Amino acid sequence: MRTLITGGTILTPHTTLAGHTLIAEAGTITALTAGPVAPQPGDTVVDASGQWVVPGFIDVHVHGGVGHDTMDATPEAIADMGRFFAAHGVTGYLPTTMTASAGAIAAAIDNVMACDQPAGGARHLGLHLEGPYLNLDYRGAQHPDHFRPPQPDEYARWFATGHVRLVTAAPELDGAEPFVRAGLARGVEFAIGHSGASYQQVVEAANWGMRQTTHAFNGMLGLHHREPGTLGGVLADERIYCQIIVDGVHVHPAMVKLLVRAKGPGRTILITDAMRAAGLSDGEYDLGGQAVSVRDGVARIANGSLAGSTLTLDAALRNVIAFAGLSLAEALPMATTVPAEALNLAGRKGTLAPGADADVALLNPDLTVSATIVAGRVVYRSERSTA
Ligand SMILES: [Zn+2]
Repeated sequence: MRTLITGGTILTPHTTLAGHTLIAEAGTITALTAGPVAPQPGDTVVDASGQWVVPGFIDVHVHGGVGHDTMDATPEAIADMGRFFAAHGVTGYLPTTMTASAGAIAAAIDNVMACDQPAGGARHLGLHLEGPYLNLDYRGAQHPDHFRPPQPDEYARWFATGHVRLVTAAPELDGAEPFVRAGLARGVEFAIGHSGASYQQVVEAANWGMRQTTHAFNGMLGLHHREPGTLGGVLADERIYCQIIVDGVHVHPAMVKLLVRAKGPGRTILITDAMRAAGLSDGEYDLGGQAVSVRDGVARIANGSLAGSTLTLDAALRNVIAFAGLSLAEALPMATTVPAEALNLAGRKGTLAPGADADVALLNPDLTVSATIVAGRVVYRSERSTA
């Protein structure tokens, strides 16, 4: 019972293999073989002729989509979000919480823990907690009532679940260092975000082990040539991966290009930061307990602050190629190997190689998604690909 993906051009993504067949068995890639492979009875053959065969995308920062949100804390939310993300090439993602009460965050964690991996969609790879230990001055669309400094009783419970993989926090808060060190000891990664950290505070946070920044440019102290601030710190420090929302709204295309040049694709992570309106039409929604209006696909709370996005990761990839003037091969790591590496999943996720999980996206020449395969199973095929 193998899955054979044949006829396409494989981007591993660090090498390009034309005319190869990808063989998967029991959810794992077993070989990338030159030429066609004769199918055995029971094999599933996926014809990828004329398409790119790439690692499934990984979204480390996404709140919701198709009417659901991680904070809904329902099994339906996780199942439907997984299906929707898979239709955009995503095979793994971190359901992302908002700044909220201790009870609401705990409920969201408990829900993800209780949910099996959806049979027909992207897998959840643990949670990303965006807050609540953030700087109120850089709150963006996070609910102002729930900001607090790190609470040892609360975060000890998060870490004990074993399901929290990434936490966004402001390192300038009292108690941030013991919080970060406690999480790192449990294998949790940390992102600097919604922060007014000075350059020096960013360097110190990186010394503790904070290795990412959440949506670079958005929700942080900006750049000045004599006061590099949070943004200058995360741009200059090679240890830090920068998440960025490449929808052309959150960050100007020229600044996207500047960030990719400063960090290199090897330290840049494409995220969507999508909220529940993603995949739906304009209208009235909510995010983290605040009303959100979506107009022309742009989500804002009443004061005008951007409130997540309606971006999908395949669109982010197409956008970064256009904005930064990159080839597909140059841009692809930012949605695959780099997020995998930043989550300590290098070698298992985000790459097409023997021993890696058989999580694959097939892309049309225009880089829309033709099919998505999770653990060797086809979970999505576009209308176009079945025609
Ligand atoms: Zn977010």
